Amino acid sequence: MGYVLGMDAALEAGLRAGQPVFFVNPGRAPMAAVSGSRPLTLADVEAARDRLERFAPLLAECFPELAPSNGIVESPLLPVPVLARRLHASGLPTHDRVYLKADHALPVAGSVKARGGLHAVLVIVERLALAQGLLAGPDDDYRRLGEPEAREFFAGHTLTVGSTGNLGLSVGIFGRGLGFAVTVHMSAEAKAWKKEKLRGVGATVVEHPGDYAAACAVARETAAGAERLHFIDDENSRELFCGYAVAGLRLPEQLAACRIDVSEQMPLILHLPCGVGGAPGGIAFGARLALGEAALAFFVEPTQAPAVLLGLATGGHAGVSVADYGLTGRTVADGLAVPRPSNLVCRIMETVLDGAHTVTDAAMLDHVAQAWDDEALRLEPSAAVALAGPLAVRRADLPRLAHRPATHILWATGGSLLPDAVFAELLTRAGNVP
Ligand SMILES: *Cc1c(COP(=O)(O)O)cnc(C)c1O
Repeated sequence: MGYVLGMDAALEAGLRAGQPVFFVNPGRAPMAAVSGSRPLTLADVEAARDRLERFAPLLAECFPELAPSNGIVESPLLPVPVLARRLHASGLPTHDRVYLKADHALPVAGSVKARGGLHAVLVIVERLALAQGLLAGPDDDYRRLGEPEAREFFAGHTLTVGSTGNLGLSVGIFGRGLGFAVTVHMSAEAKAWKKEKLRGVGATVVEHPGDYAAACAVARETAAGAERLHFIDDENSRELFCGYAVAGLRLPEQLAACRIDVSEQMPLILHLPCGVGGAPGGIAFGARLALGEAALAFFVEPTQAPAVLLGLATGGHAGVSVADYGLTGRTVADGLAVPRPSNLVCRIMETVLDGAHTVTDAAMLDHVAQAWDDEALRLEPSAAVALAGPLAVRRADLPRLAHRPATHILWATGGSLLPDAVFAELLTRAGNVP
């Protein structure tokens, strides 16, 4: 199987037919070459990292799960020897190594949204607290924000967000835990258990019959001009993006701890499940800032909802919808079920991303079962899609990777909170989908 640079007739035909396709990003450039032209810089990501550190003592007090890590939300990098053996048996070069980044087990929110959602919430908390005099400045003791005076003040403010499920969970649980009111606008594909969990922590869930873009539009409109209503905009948020990007900055230390050497001769390949692009885009951006040309990033998307692939391949960014290509946007990967990508993310990914490819629902369900059978990992389909990455990228036969042993990181973006019955049903469906 060859590959296509940019959009061409064969890629378009495959996309329209709902077949798995592979897109190589023709705009990918060395990080240093274009650093001045991107809307965000290393300094923005470092500011996010510092903010998460300032808040850590408060978070350790408000969320018991964060006490062991002193308030830092992070996940381990795990070896997955049985999965790796399966991939090697299926054609992955034997010199390639495979690890899994366990964001499905991130504390509090159980998905990658714990990164971006938390940071977006903290930006709002910090701004309000400084303006209100609850904090004297960034060097103050942030644990003051857990005291009754601060919590009473926060209770008068509402955080609002549009979500396919996991972002709502993240903003809802973190926001409520800090004392805010929270309203989540859920799109049609949002799972019942995610809504129940949110209501359980005291968030208001508004259900919408339409897709993700429609739910976001309602949330955005309601918040416009309202002083005590704060909208977290997944389709355009710099704060979400920078929160995700911190994961990339932290990678070199984790790699070193696992004794994984990374260089242009031994590249690191990130396989990132992608919806609107914020989470995978932020992680890719952070990783490339930290590791330069030694890191490659590929997005993995559902065949029916390749939002970022289409946005980049056509150059139309958020102006293009999967419906324009005859696709439904419907997929078992509820976290990836979006019709359009984020404009902000497309602008940054134009030069950062190596490529994107698509996976069918049937293959995703197989990957859910494999992760469980091989490694006892509970992944939702939106996360298991990453398992398709190593073989797809190797089969694309990219010159940049020729004759180079690589380390693959499957970025498992969510699933540890899946209720037993919901997970059991996914396992039953594996292998039974047409
Ligand atoms: C949201 C989500 C993604 C993708 O993040 P985007 O920012 O929408 O691209 C991937 N996996 C899971 C489990 C998610 O919830």
